[in-house]
Amino acid sequence: MDQQHVEDDLALDQTLITEDQIQDRLAEMAAEITADYAERDILLVGVLKGAVMVMADLARSLDRHVEMDWMAISSYGSGTKSSGVVRILKDLDTDLSGRHVLIVEDIIDTGLTLSWLVANLRSRGPASVEIATLLRKPDAVQNDIAVKYVGFDIPNAFVVGYGLDYDEKYRNLRCIGTLAPHVYS
Ligand code: 5GP
Repeated sequence: MDQQHVEDDLALDQTLITEDQIQDRLAEMAAEITADYAERDILLVGVLKGAVMVMADLARSLDRHVEMDWMAISSYGSGTKSSGVVRILKDLDTDLSGRHVLIVEDIIDTGLTLSWLVANLRSRGPASVEIATLLRKPDAVQNDIAVKYVGFDIPNAFVVGYGLDYDEKYRNLRCIGTLAPHVYS
């Protein structure tokens, strides 16, 4: 689904970030990561399901070898508010001891999910844990969540597309759009 879909879908308000803007920014982030990790092996840890698209495109923008692993955690139901309750649905297959872990996230809202995840991964003895996220909302900035690589700081709207869903829909939208408030309020 592409940008035209946003214009035709009454549940969607507008396109916030286009497909080209996403790809350009991911290429810039990849260049930074390549430079920062020149001497170190990277284990990319993606958080299912939202980070699938970011992981696929960011990893392919990196001109170097990386390993990838996945975790599934739940923090949201079908609504739009963070519950603060985190549960591991699928754990990593990789032993993290001595590894340089780069968490790949789709979006950070309150940062509750991420704070929990970072603490959880740090307890497994990695050499380092850093975070790359495509999107960050104002609360995460306010809560001082240390994120090394940020794609876009966005306003406090509920967004969908490029991996992000509303009730499991819109993940396959190529761009990022805002959900019309009448859908969830
Ligand atoms: P946090 O714990 O940082 O408040 O929430 C992080 C998780 O909430 C994200 O990984 C994502 O699953 C979900 N989330 C937060 N904001 C949005 C949003 O605007 N759209 C969608 N689709 N999910 C969101």
